[in-house]
Amino acid sequence: MELRDTQKQLLRTLPGVDTLLDALLAEIPEGKVPRSVLTASAREALEATRRSIFNGEDPTVDLASVLTFAHERIDAKMRPNLTRVVNGTGVVVHTNLGRSLMAEEALERIHAVGNRYSNLEFNLKTGKRGLRYTAVEELICEITGAEAAMVVNNNAGAVLLCLDTLVRGKEAVVSRGELVEIGGAFRIPDVMTKSGGILKEVGTTNRTHLRDYENAISDETGLFLKVHTSNYQIVGFTSAVSVAELAALGKERGIPVMDDLGSGTFVNFGDYGLPAEPTVQQSVAAGADIVTFSGDKLLGGPQSGIIVGSRTHIEAIRKNPLTRALRIDKLTLAALEATLRLYRDEAEAVAKIPTLRMITMDREETEVRAKELMEALAGLPVKTEALALASRPGGGSLPLLELPSCCVGVTLPGMGASAMEKAMRKNDPPIIGRIENEAYILDPRTLQEGDIALIAEALSRIVEART
Ligand SMILES: *Cc1c(COP(=O)(O)O)cnc(C)c1O
Repeated sequence: MELRDTQKQLLRTLPGVDTLLDALLAEIPEGKVPRSVLTASAREALEATRRSIFNGEDPTVDLASVLTFAHERIDAKMRPNLTRVVNGTGVVVHTNLGRSLMAEEALERIHAVGNRYSNLEFNLKTGKRGLRYTAVEELICEITGAEAAMVVNNNAGAVLLCLDTLVRGKEAVVSRGELVEIGGAFRIPDVMTKSGGILKEVGTTNRTHLRDYENAISDETGLFLKVHTSNYQIVGFTSAVSVAELAALGKERGIPVMDDLGSGTFVNFGDYGLPAEPTVQQSVAAGADIVTFSGDKLLGGPQSGIIVGSRTHIEAIRKNPLTRALRIDKLTLAALEATLRLYRDEAEAVAKIPTLRMITMDREETEVRAKELMEALAGLPVKTEALALASRPGGGSLPLLELPSCCVGVTLPGMGASAMEKAMRKNDPPIIGRIENEAYILDPRTLQEGDIALIAEALSRIVEART
């Protein structure tokens, strides 16, 4: 490409890296920013300016303008990449925004165990090596009624581990209505292949009967697998076989039954006026030999995969070498134990576990919060409107369920919803809302303490930047 004379002239006036670095060092107190960050930012600032010259943009290229650019790069590099955001989407278990918020009790335990040594794999009674699952096994059994339990890194890992242990080289019988794909490319048929099991599909998409499972039994059969259709529902002319029916057949024919509950809940949402999700307790009582579920979906704990079931199967799973590759870390274990302890008293769990509190929040409470938000924005030149909408539990839990919510539509004259969404997202901390019917919406259900003030500050900054 032929450069114009003005472009050549601009390139010549660009300061060198060393000049820029010296200028930065003169402005920034020593030791505040690592040298590597200063050098990289200076290079990037020069590179960006050079690029805009090449693009024919005629930028200002004096030292001051390049310095401003370098400072922006430094600020960006010094800020944590993983950062808090304000969740105004109303999606409670939002996988992209970190899924479950930890209860205070869980955070306390993370702190207590994180900067001290612990008995993670040390039996304090015998002074010998212990199992890391001991911290939670008893609690999980106490809550669910299961004989034995263990935990791994996440539920995808739990499913893989169980299948690898139970069906390697054998067939797992699954209903065609339950060949689930969840987010992040986790598909039951693919996980089956990875675990060395052979998927034996039975029934049809909408209807599967007990005789379908029965007819599929052969010498190769290693498992009956049920998968909770947590992110979709098959409605209309449907029929599925219950865990109890399958467990009875399994017992008779010597075939274990595994139930992947996905979300997994210890609380019966039916008691809170919501559609009932199958609880872990129900699945255990129905006779499932193995039940797997997430620690950070409806349970509201840290990312983890919980496996409960009969002692023989859990022991076989523990001996699988994959267990070592999927093991849960100590901070997670500390948070999980604390979360589980809250479940000893359901009222306490619902009050203290943020996920449960937000899901069971009634419309009246969202109205109160919406009003607070609107009052906080009253002094700004923005238009707010209370809207009767719905929030979603999210995270592939309680499919299709809509939680009635009073939301707040926020409009700034002359600014479209998507421009508003972007400006709010660029805020520090980022504020994530949603766009519905071409309006920018904030759902108070998922706002945390202090968030309303942050939203008001963000909007006042946006207003100011436009004047
Ligand atoms: C979410 C889900 C999983 C995976 O759980 P993660 O904890 O996200 O790994 C597996 N099976 C079902 C049915 C699920 O809904």
